[in-house]
Amino acid sequence: MTLLLSQEELAASVKRLALGLDEDYAHTSPVLVGILKGAFVFLADLVRQMKTPVRRIEFLRLSSYGASTVSSGRARILVGVPKGAIQGQHVIMVDDVVDTGITTAAALRYLRRFRPASLKLCVLLDKPARRQASVTIDYLAATIPDRFVVGYGLDVDERFRQLPDIYALEE
Ligand code: 5GP
Ligand code: MG
Repeated sequence: MTLLLSQEELAASVKRLALGLDEDYAHTSPVLVGILKGAFVFLADLVRQMKTPVRRIEFLRLSSYGASTVSSGRARILVGVPKGAIQGQHVIMVDDVVDTGITTAAALRYLRRFRPASLKLCVLLDKPARRQASVTIDYLAATIPDRFVVGYGLDVDERFRQLPDIYALEE
C-alpha cells in the first residue's frame, strides 16, 4: 500500500470544508446525510469541525461493490432515511468517493424525492477518470487518480476502514 493522503492532509481538508459550510449555512440549520459505510469517518470529523448547529444527522445505505474493487454499474438503496427527515430541509449529502458517479447519482435522486429545500453534495474523494453519471460536487476534500484506495472509512472487503490515513492499493 502507498500513502496517498496523510491524516494531517485529511484534517486540513476537512477543516477547510467545515469553514466553507459554516459560511454557506450561517443562517440555517442543515441536515447531514452520510452515505454508509464509507463516509462514516469523514462525516464524524467534518461535523465536529463545523460550528453551524446541525438540525439532524441521517444515514443512507446503498449496495456496495462487495469484495470487488470494480463498480458493478448498479446501485440500490438498502436502508433509507426516515419519513419527514428531509422534506423542506437544507440537506448536505456526505459521500466518500465519486468514481463512476453511479451510486452518488442514485443517492441524490433518492433524496430529491423527499423534496428538500436545497440539496448539496460534500465528497471526500473525487476520482474523475471513470465518470459515467454526471455529478456536481459542491464541496470536495481531494481529487485523486484512478487508484483503489483504503483507510479513513474506506475498505476493501470490509478491511482497513480504521486506518487514519488513505492508502492506494498496489496493482
Ligand atoms: P461509483 O458508483 O461512483 O462508481 O462508486 C462509488 C462507491 O464505490 C463509493 O461510495 C465507494 O463506496 C466505492 N469506491 C469507489 N472507489 C473506491 C476506492 O478507491 N476505494 C474504496 N474503498 N471504495 C471505492
Ligand atoms: Mg459511497
